[in-house]
Amino acid sequence: MKLHEFQSKEILRRYQVPTPEGEVTGELEAARRIIESTKKYPLVVKAQILAGGRGKGGGVRVCRDRAEALAAAEAILGMNLVTPQTGDQGQQVRQILLEQGVAIAQEFYLSLVVDRAGAGIAFLASRAGGMAIEELAAEQPELVVKVRVDPLAGLAGYHLRQLAFGLGLPPELHKEFGALCRNLYHCFTACDCLLLEINPLVLTAGTPRFIALDAKLEIDDNALFRRPELAALRDPAEESEPERRARSAGLNYIGLKGNIASMVNGAGLAMATMDLIKQAGGEPANFLDVGGGASAAMVEEGLRIILDDPGVEAVLINIFGGILRCDILAQGVVEAARRTAIKVPLIVRMEGTNVEEGRRILADSGLELITAADLSEVGQALVALVGDRPSAAKPPTEMEVAANPAANQHNSASATTAAAAENSPERRP
Ligand code: ADP
Ligand code: MG
Repeated sequence: MKLHEFQSKEILRRYQVPTPEGEVTGELEAARRIIESTKKYPLVVKAQILAGGRGKGGGVRVCRDRAEALAAAEAILGMNLVTPQTGDQGQQVRQILLEQGVAIAQEFYLSLVVDRAGAGIAFLASRAGGMAIEELAAEQPELVVKVRVDPLAGLAGYHLRQLAFGLGLPPELHKEFGALCRNLYHCFTACDCLLLEINPLVLTAGTPRFIALDAKLEIDDNALFRRPELAALRDPAEESEPERRARSAGLNYIGLKGNIASMVNGAGLAMATMDLIKQAGGEPANFLDVGGGASAAMVEEGLRIILDDPGVEAVLINIFGGILRCDILAQGVVEAARRTAIKVPLIVRMEGTNVEEGRRILADSGLELITAADLSEVGQALVALVGDRPSAAKPPTEMEVAANPAANQHNSASATTAAAAENSPERRP
């Protein structure tokens, strides 16, 4: 679950991380009142959406006086903000943060991420922080310092020195920087974060002090049950309609931009199925893991969600019946088909518990289905449907993902679904 900048900063303050003072509002009248009573300028007007790159898209404006601030608040609140991370359709700005302007001497990049490959937590830092970090990570990865921390051993002095030297900080700043990193690490672990990103972390002009000028926290969905105060911060307005429906049905769903939808049980099988779709020349339209204990009603809702996507040209159901029995699946499919007009070809491959009964239910339903006995038949059916079109999407590099985890969502099915697989209700060895 991603948090807004203002929410992330509120949390950081609780961990003694310095941030500029600010107020958030969704009402233009309230924004006007805040601006009228503001004496200190510059004031920065910042769009609150759950995507980065707002500065590049015109969603962050540093205002020198009241008139500029009023104009910026009017322009930004309610605007459709398109940034490199929102996709072309952009996102509507429902809230703005009115924040004290900071005189910046230097901008750094500093983040903590769950380092899956290293089975730990990694700090990523760069002295070339700010709005061009994604380009930097791609073009000059040597400017990004990575320091891995073993969560069982904890954060030690040498980690902090590696970071401070890596950033080229003068010795007199090492102590403050070390304390900052300790606070960030504490926040990261105490809030079950997947990502804690400060970009930019600035050194102020005049007396040099570190201030987190931007903040992005992403909380592990699997930990929300034990962090109700964080779970309450979810902004439903920022979720897409299918994501909201899937979450309330207990389904693990991520919308993607392809033409072939799939419904699978088990995250590993779902990812293998998406590979199969790409291999056949299609693009996955979604990741949908209905989980091990799905009911017919959940299967039905899952199918309805993916059928509502107008970009879908075919649907592939790939179920290995274990705990989820094939007859239950078949009932769900038939119910969904009865209630929605299915206008696209439906390929079904199922195997496992009660498969005979499942096949009988599908055969008796009168539905027009393409049935496949195994995965190679699924592949053949897909090729026959979508041809062998070359796929256009280029996966991001590891560095791009590390520096900008949100890039997953837009560039790569597999990276996004790797994250989804982690959250999957059913994990298979
Ligand atoms: P995004 O990463 O979405 O573009 P940021 O919060 O990083 O948004 O803001 C973009 C840029 O705007 C920053 O790199 C910084 O230069 C400037 N900025 C943001 N907040 C402030 C502030 N409070 N005072 C001065 N400059 C700011
Ligand atoms: Mg930023």
